[in-house]
Amino acid sequence: AASARHQSHQRYLEGQDEEHLRQLTLIRDLQSAVTCDQLHMVYQPKIDARSGEVVEFEALMRWQHPSLGFIPPDEFITLAERSGNIRPLSRWMFNAVCSQLAAWQRQGQRLSVAINLSAADLGDADLVALLLNHLRHHGLQADQLALEITESAVMEDATLASHSLNRLRQAGLTISVDDFGTGYSSLAQLKRLPVGELKIDKSFILQLDSEDDDATIVRSTIEMGHSLGLRIVAEGVENAASAGLLKEYGCDFLQGYWIARPLPADSVIEWLGGNNP
Ligand code: C2E
Ligand code: CA
Ligand code: CA
Ligand code: CA
Repeated sequence: AASARHQSHQRYLEGQDEEHLRQLTLIRDLQSAVTCDQLHMVYQPKIDARSGEVVEFEALMRWQHPSLGFIPPDEFITLAERSGNIRPLSRWMFNAVCSQLAAWQRQGQRLSVAINLSAADLGDADLVALLLNHLRHHGLQADQLALEITESAVMEDATLASHSLNRLRQAGLTISVDDFGTGYSSLAQLKRLPVGELKIDKSFILQLDSEDDDATIVRSTIEMGHSLGLRIVAEGVENAASAGLLKEYGCDFLQGYWIARPLPADSVIEWLGGNNP
């Protein structure tokens, strides 16, 4: 028995070593991900719950590693944040998204995109100038770019974050609190930030049609948010039943596989054509 335990402990350690090695490899290769053209963005629509019209697309990052294949963003974004390497990725993303918006514009489609920001981006003193420069350089208006930030990202350095966010809000960008309900901040705390929108985390939405507790939470979040003058988005809408409930509760915007999966940039215009006949 002692030897079996030893063996399983050994396997556990080897598993840990493998995981550790993978993480080190990924951290090492983050830099070449940016410089060697291994990153790309995909775009997931967000629709108006009542009219069904597309209001915006969320830009999500993808990394195709040359030997390890597809790396989920939850994995590499977290590693980039923890190893202090997120800024080059974010800067690459700002440019990719604004170039894409400009390209769609040349094709006759004036679209809006929401980007995800990390805590380190909010702590970047150059963030505001950088974003506004990209918009100007690509001939875009401020309302074509929205920002999604998590509760925890804002709370990490609330003073600096709220300074940048206020300036971006003044410039005309919309600010949305992502993964709402999973952090520790209260609506009262968020009210001090220039936030216009709450995005209810998908963990409350995925089983909305079968879990009474989720329905209660979602309903009261929508009510409270509305009474504070915020617009409410639900992410992770996977079926018609959930979409129906969300409409009934007065949710403003819907996003999820039921509407569309994240799309490659060059499928967006075609999807829009099929979606709004
Ligand atoms: P997020 O910002 O909360 O993005 C929503 C995630 O839910 C996305 O996963 C999206 O593909 C997925 N999703 C959308 N609809 C559904 C649905 O109906 N059902 C289910 N089960 N999932 C759905 P993804 O693309 O894997 O991104 C994961 C996370 O990685 C994002 O969560 C965000 O935190 C981070 N991320 C992605 N791109 C970027 C980026 O460019 N910058 C930063 N800082 N973070 C990013
Ligand atoms: Ca998001
Ligand atoms: Ca989210
Ligand atoms: Ca998330």
